[in-house]
Amino acid sequence: MNTQVKNLQFPSLPYAYDALEPHIDAMTMEIHYTRHHKAYFDNLQAAVKDTEMADMPFADLLKNISKYPVAVRNNGGGHFNHSLFWTIMSANGGGKPQGELAEAINKNFGSFEAMQEKFNTAAKTRFGSGWAWLCVKSDKSLAVCSSPNQDNPLMDVAECHGTPILGLDVWEHAYYLKYQNKRPDYISAFWNVINWDAVTKNYTNAI
Ligand code: MN
Repeated sequence: MNTQVKNLQFPSLPYAYDALEPHIDAMTMEIHYTRHHKAYFDNLQAAVKDTEMADMPFADLLKNISKYPVAVRNNGGGHFNHSLFWTIMSANGGGKPQGELAEAINKNFGSFEAMQEKFNTAAKTRFGSGWAWLCVKSDKSLAVCSSPNQDNPLMDVAECHGTPILGLDVWEHAYYLKYQNKRPDYISAFWNVINWDAVTKNYTNAI
């Protein structure tokens, strides 16, 4: 995140396209990663080329995104959000978090199930395209929220602010091939592939 925007790398996918089957199908993964994410990445680089934005740390750009062109907001958000998304899933995912993160979830939401329900509602009720988030606020408490399009809680334009540690892409491109209009089924399936070790790492880095 301290990397200058011009030096950002398109990340490698940490598993095979079919690794998250049957919950997320291989064709969706391949198209999502190689076309959608790659396009956000390329379009971000094109949008910042030969501007002051190219030399800014990526975190600073996102934090001050209201000052910059909408193409940078959409594609910069798209790059950040997908980069996070790939890492918080794995073939051995699912279950529940342990330790510090489990305690924080219980403290903030009452139980894992209560957090899960709140997250599901955020993901289901985000009208149109966007993301659902579990994030760490500046007072180190946890919050669930959603954002439209490729916005995220790091952006100054966001309704909820914080450091996202878990995110779910609810754009139709993330689920339509397998789930068509049944977004709730895709959201339910997501819980089977969450990499809680990665989310816990994000949590400890954030606090
Ligand atoms: Mn996407």
